[in-house]
Amino acid sequence: MMDAQQFALLCVYVLAGLLGLCVGSFLNVVIYRLPGGISLSTPGSHCPQCGYVLKWFDNIPVLSFLLLRGRCRSCGKRISPRYVAVELANALLWLLSVALFYKVNLVYMAVAMVVSSLLICVFFIDLEHMLIFDRFQILLALCGVVAMFTDSFTVWSDHLIGAVVGGAVFAGLYFGSIAVLKTEGLGLGDVKYAAAAGLLLGWQKLIPAILIGSVSGAVFMVAANRIRHAEKHTEYPFGPFLAVGTLIAMFFGNAIIGWYWNLLFL
Ligand SMILES: [Zn+2]
Repeated sequence: MMDAQQFALLCVYVLAGLLGLCVGSFLNVVIYRLPGGISLSTPGSHCPQCGYVLKWFDNIPVLSFLLLRGRCRSCGKRISPRYVAVELANALLWLLSVALFYKVNLVYMAVAMVVSSLLICVFFIDLEHMLIFDRFQILLALCGVVAMFTDSFTVWSDHLIGAVVGGAVFAGLYFGSIAVLKTEGLGLGDVKYAAAAGLLLGWQKLIPAILIGSVSGAVFMVAANRIRHAEKHTEYPFGPFLAVGTLIAMFFGNAIIGWYWNLLFL
């Protein structure tokens, strides 16, 4: 039988999963509307093809998509699978936050949830529009301030060092590529992002975050250029890769660092 504590934990998981889906549904609205400067609240959700206004039962995360087989109820046009991907990704990252941090540190768990949702927005908006909104950077930095005083594995100064070093290194790359290559190798948004991510992670976890972001970004660009036979000028956003690196470092950074130390000293 399940004791009271296990039951409470089960409830937390179910709640985090369901709320995660609903918040994911709202993130879709943010991702779709914010870059176009459209109000987040009005008009209600509608089909971009035919304007059909969604009823509440068309708007249930994942379930409605499955029931309608990914098509608009009114015009039958396909609905982008991105909507379901965002909902599922947010729910999974919220569940991961509970699994890793619920028993260790409740405030840090909440930070991990907010950062997960924030970075899903950064990922998809930068992927499509090549920009990271300042309001996301500010929110990420605010989460960083909370993490600074609640992260059990680092002290507050580690987070300040992370912000300064992250910002300085990326600013160096930014101005360096303008001076040497006469082109922006990365955007000014990436520089601000590195500083905010450094504040969140602390310098120890910022290192794996940037390594994972850069390597996965480089591999993707080489592969994409091969497939597309693109000219050299094709620009790719760096933000989505940095966001993935940040999430991996936030969730598994301590494990990665521990594994690396063992590798060095065993
Ligand atoms: Zn439609």
